[in-house]
Amino acid sequence: MSDTATTPTNATFDQFGLHADILKAIAEQGYTTPTPIQAEAIPVVLGGRDVMGAAQTGTGKTAGFSLPIIQRLLPLASTSASPARHPVRALILTPTRELADQVAANVQAYAKHTSLRSAVVFGGVDMNPQSAELRRGVEILIATPGRLLDHVQQKTANLGQVQILVLDEADRMLDMGFLPDLQRILNLLPAERQTLLFSATFSPEIKKLASTYLRNPQTIEVARSNSTATNVTQIVYEVAEGDKTGAVVKLIRDRGLKQVIVFCNSKIGASRLARQLERDGVVATAIHGDRTQSERMQALDAFKRGEIEALVATDVAARGLDIAELPAVINFDLPFNAEDYVHRIGRTGRAGASGDALSLFSPNERKQLADIEKLIKRPLDVQRLTVDTPVRHHHDERAAPRRERDDRGGSRRRTTGAHERPHGTHHRQQPVDDFFLKPYEPSPSAVSAAAKRDEAPAAPQKPASKQPLAALLGGFGMPRKTTPSN
Ligand code: AMP
Repeated sequence: MSDTATTPTNATFDQFGLHADILKAIAEQGYTTPTPIQAEAIPVVLGGRDVMGAAQTGTGKTAGFSLPIIQRLLPLASTSASPARHPVRALILTPTRELADQVAANVQAYAKHTSLRSAVVFGGVDMNPQSAELRRGVEILIATPGRLLDHVQQKTANLGQVQILVLDEADRMLDMGFLPDLQRILNLLPAERQTLLFSATFSPEIKKLASTYLRNPQTIEVARSNSTATNVTQIVYEVAEGDKTGAVVKLIRDRGLKQVIVFCNSKIGASRLARQLERDGVVATAIHGDRTQSERMQALDAFKRGEIEALVATDVAARGLDIAELPAVINFDLPFNAEDYVHRIGRTGRAGASGDALSLFSPNERKQLADIEKLIKRPLDVQRLTVDTPVRHHHDERAAPRRERDDRGGSRRRTTGAHERPHGTHHRQQPVDDFFLKPYEPSPSAVSAAAKRDEAPAAPQKPASKQPLAALLGGFGMPRKTTPSN
């Protein structure tokens, strides 16, 4: 498809010729040297070329595309109040609301000393404030596909002057069934534009998307920065299934963890674990698709402020979360999809900080462990963890279906879905939160507009790509931890 860039070393932000206003913002963010993806992507994007970037969240890719976009748009920046002087010139599409919000926060910080305007639109919240902001005019728009189409339909977003398109986490967008929405959006954009596609994997579907919509792209493949990878210590603790909650409490207490994400394979499991941890004195909350957007944002903010010790999350809810310097993640369940393990442990050891990826492994998860080791191309250090005083509750919530309180204080009947099959049954299906899988999420105010569409609904969810990740991630040459698990 194109030449592959090599990773430069010793780069500085000064070398790119970025405007002083952008350099000032970079300095204020505390960035001193560009990450490898930034060192590679910034000059290519500045040169106007299309990019096919293999990079995950955590590599610094957001600044890698945002900084040169801001630089390229600066000559068009206007201090005029007229909306006509602020058309959408750069569009950044992301699969999830959380990622959209994070990208928007970064763009805003990087552009704060310029007169360029940015805004973010995503579903699950009132459209009206978004519409008002769009009407005032923004040059850089960050959006999830469904809500963007709502705005296009309502004529609050006009994409006719977009010069730069970014497809962020493109593999995730396809996995979530956004392809039809993406195609609709792409058809609304000028053919003459620069397109930047970022994806953790280059599956055949991604390559097809790229060959259809990108022009002679430069491929940029960057391993998750070696400093990050080598700073993540991975330990697998073998425990009885019934002792897992006690094991989480023990790990948090013994290691003095003040901020940890605990991953569960299902949203019901996440809610249950958060409640159990609370009963055992750990300040915990669950973040998953049964929570409203504002509940999830509140939980995330409280976690970032250090008010919550354990954020219990499902994979899709946690995708793209950027929490600086997270000391540890715990896998309560080993993920069914080995790639999710890589995404999960990428939440710790970010931007050069060290971190621990601690996984609980019960005998019925051998297949998942084998899949992970195959993917990362190395055996994992398995230690026994003895939970002295197993945390058991009067009613074992893993038992048969019953009415349970949901996170909003209501009561609902448990349904038996793909994520809830008892252990030992066949469960290779990707565990996902349906909330996030709705490719089209009209708000109440957009329902009438959406109803008018004659196009078919988005494609159903497909299982996540099985492309190997280890090559992109540098093979995880991490030291084994030899200390006993006490
Ligand atoms: P991203 O992969 O874009 O989500 O970025 C991951 C984290 O790295 C974010 O917290 C960024 O603020 C941070 N970051 C991005 N670029 C740099 C840099 N050059 N130096 C230090 N931190 C950075």
